[in-house]
Amino acid sequence: MGKFYVTTPIYYVNDKPHIGHAYTTVAADIIARFNRFLGRDVFFLTGTDEHGQKIQQAAEKKGMSPKEFVDSLVPVFKDLWKLLNISYDRFIRTTDPDHVKAVQHIFMKCYENGDIYLGEYEGWYCIPCETYYTEKDLLEGKLCPACGREVTKVKEESYFFRLSKYQEKLLKLYEENPDFIAPEFRRNEVVNFVKQGLKDLSISRTSFSWGIPVPINEKHVIYVWFDALTNYLTAVGYPDDEERLNRYWPADLHLVGKDILRFHAVYWPAFLMSAGLPVPKRVFAHGWWTVNGEKMSKSKRNVINPFEVAEKFGVDQFRFFMFREVSFGLDGDFSFEKLVQRINGELANDLGNLFNRTLSMLKKYRGSKLPAPKGEFDELDAKIKRKANATVEKVIELIPKGELSKALDEIWQFVSFVNFYIDRRAPWTLRKEGRDEELDTVLYNMVESLRFITALLYPYMPNSAEKMASLLKIKKPVNEWRIKEFSSWGGMEPEAELEKGGILFPRIEYDPETGNVREAKTKKG
Ligand SMILES: [Zn+2]
Repeated sequence: MGKFYVTTPIYYVNDKPHIGHAYTTVAADIIARFNRFLGRDVFFLTGTDEHGQKIQQAAEKKGMSPKEFVDSLVPVFKDLWKLLNISYDRFIRTTDPDHVKAVQHIFMKCYENGDIYLGEYEGWYCIPCETYYTEKDLLEGKLCPACGREVTKVKEESYFFRLSKYQEKLLKLYEENPDFIAPEFRRNEVVNFVKQGLKDLSISRTSFSWGIPVPINEKHVIYVWFDALTNYLTAVGYPDDEERLNRYWPADLHLVGKDILRFHAVYWPAFLMSAGLPVPKRVFAHGWWTVNGEKMSKSKRNVINPFEVAEKFGVDQFRFFMFREVSFGLDGDFSFEKLVQRINGELANDLGNLFNRTLSMLKKYRGSKLPAPKGEFDELDAKIKRKANATVEKVIELIPKGELSKALDEIWQFVSFVNFYIDRRAPWTLRKEGRDEELDTVLYNMVESLRFITALLYPYMPNSAEKMASLLKIKKPVNEWRIKEFSSWGGMEPEAELEKGGILFPRIEYDPETGNVREAKTKKG
């Protein structure tokens, strides 16, 4: 089945991780886990962006060296990924020695190809935002458009990348590869941006020293995107390990927030073309979260802390919610009320209750021993198999493309269909009327459907899928399940003795006044 290389952006190490960081990284984890299920050789990369003036200044304030300072910040990201069950293959840091080497190497490649030259940079600089602006970007009174603070005028020697030279080549890339940028409306934004004309890009600075030195001029450090984007190459062996590079490069999917799409879909392919390397296959930009309809900001004290949500409501509940509540690619709104509604309505009721009632009926009618199916007695007995297989096929098409909410919607339609199947085939009536062979078939189909659901939900909710598998008494760990076991219906072994029932997702009560969460005393799913 080949390989699959998926990345998150590297996160700026000075930021506190919020729901946006968790969103991209869980998305990449779902895609990585699903591609492993497809039997692919997966490489999943995440990490931290650690250079720049802001870091240098923050370290000085604390009386630390920049490296000591970033070393002290990395663990919070690693702890969050551990809590959220992120199965990355490498956590890259832009201070890693192999990355420094890769950045200097690609710089020299572009330089030798005539795409980097020394010039002079003039602009307005906001120190806290670490961003240069042109005069027309500034707010009235020469203020930073991002934070509203005062900016300073700067003029310095800088190396430039000849981005202007790549305008036509980039437009050709977008035209020949309509899948290169997703979602489609974002693709149109990028195409329009490039059509307006590209300016050469300043890629070095002399005003601070915390960065990767320009190999031909020690006065300069390489600036932001040229350093950061190269991490995707470093991690797959660039420049020395050709075998590894050929194996994993180009990346199959870069996941990014919409605010950094331009850098990934314009700068990055231009750098790669200049260095004579293939461009990534796809860049998928997701939207932003608001909170109760408002933009997240420190001043409003409404920043959603992913540690807190996962610890209070459950890791899988949080992972599920992010891709169920909002169509991946669009902006969305977070609220605890909506999270609770999804948990109680969909996880406890639709899914948890489906497992529980299936196992209870199996216990009641067959002493928890799975009967062999005795044929098809009803159109629905055939339909449930077709639905299961069709759902697998659709999910295979959707997840590797980054269409995580559409795939989850397909899975949920199947969950609803199984509930509908049970209601319509009414095992209790079959039992009452003594239609024993038919009851065997229906019970078998119910349990076999649960096996499919477990496999398909595993990438979204790995811990819960493990619990589901243990209810079905399947010994093989879910992370070792592979697609070939789902190419045909009938994988559950008849005669297997299943669990007698179990609560997968307790119903919860949430108190918006205190923020307290507890298990609901009433009905459980
Ligand atoms: Zn600013």
